[in-house]
Amino acid sequence: MIDTKIIAIIVAAGRGARAGAGGPKQYRSLAGRAVIARSAAVFLDHPQIDAVRIIIHRDDRSEYDAAMGELLFHAKLLEPVFGGAERQDSVCIGLESIEDQGPRRVLIHDAARPFIDERTISRVIDALNTNDGAIAALPVHDTLKRSGTDKLIDTTVSRDGLWRAQTPQGFQFDKILAAHRNAAGQMLTDDAAVAEASGMQVALIAGSPDNMKITQAQDFGMAETLLGRKMSKMEYRTGHGFDVHEFEDGDAVILCGVEIVHEKKLKGHSDADAGMHALTDAIFGAISEGDIGDHFPPSDPQWKGVGSEVFLARARDLVAERKGRITHCDVTIICEAPKIGPHRDKMRTALADILEIESSRISVKATTTEQLGFAGRREGIAAMATATIALPEDA
Ligand code: MG
Repeated sequence: MIDTKIIAIIVAAGRGARAGAGGPKQYRSLAGRAVIARSAAVFLDHPQIDAVRIIIHRDDRSEYDAAMGELLFHAKLLEPVFGGAERQDSVCIGLESIEDQGPRRVLIHDAARPFIDERTISRVIDALNTNDGAIAALPVHDTLKRSGTDKLIDTTVSRDGLWRAQTPQGFQFDKILAAHRNAAGQMLTDDAAVAEASGMQVALIAGSPDNMKITQAQDFGMAETLLGRKMSKMEYRTGHGFDVHEFEDGDAVILCGVEIVHEKKLKGHSDADAGMHALTDAIFGAISEGDIGDHFPPSDPQWKGVGSEVFLARARDLVAERKGRITHCDVTIICEAPKIGPHRDKMRTALADILEIESSRISVKATTTEQLGFAGRREGIAAMATATIALPEDA
């Protein structure tokens, strides 16, 4: 038994006849990625979720494998299990399938809601500290009418206290498993209804208006529009960095990853690549991650003599972890000698290779200080850098 506290169950066993041709909607591509993969990725990436179990239809194993792609190798992903005739049966099978892993809590989510976000999941989890269950939901704002089959209004229904239920729906594991077993054959519409039928206390937690359910064929168009809007919700952040290294006896300097023959070398921590250090600090700055010394303390012998590309790669990885993108970098090297101009393009390529971006997004410039100050006296080299990073607004 692994020490699993919170497991997410994603229900994907439906046949989705309402979504039209093209197979079950959870396997269809939404702007290049299957709906089910989009939903699963949010739960797999959530730091509080220990494992994810997906419930699929027994005919869909190959569609599932194709749709999940690289996510199949995610360490938190459990083998899928086959669902039952109705959604409620599938959830019950899913709950029983994780019982031996000893979860304390479970979140149940519909695969057809690919716009679930980390914060909504966190709110549901937090609410389980004080409730048997908690579901994402939104208050109803539209005026509600009731009519018969003649489509003529009989009455206006008060919307006071009415909410639209979404998923995820979270529960204390033992209670919801017992509730599902008790509710077998009752045909309830969601897991909260199963919980209510057992007398569990279930809280309503603010869901997200974007957390739509893809039910019908036309929902794909709306989902793609929404996705385009979300992708454009990036904000731009700028960081700057500055570094100086002193000359000592030697025969070459390393600047921006390029070795340049010179009458001196630069002295210092690692390879003393002032250009790469300034750029690394600029990237750390743009994501408010401290500086190079915090990540690679000079007092720690393991970083002595390490190539500066290790530092820059760490900054790159921290941006990637936040789903950010390095948009542009601008490095200025300040020295009288050596001449930087002949090496600029090589430097841009070297930095681009480490950052895994196009070299057109990297600028390297050089200037002198008109023989003034330490750089002017050829005592050392200074470098400044600016990094511009695009980050999702909710990062
Ligand atoms: Mg340095």
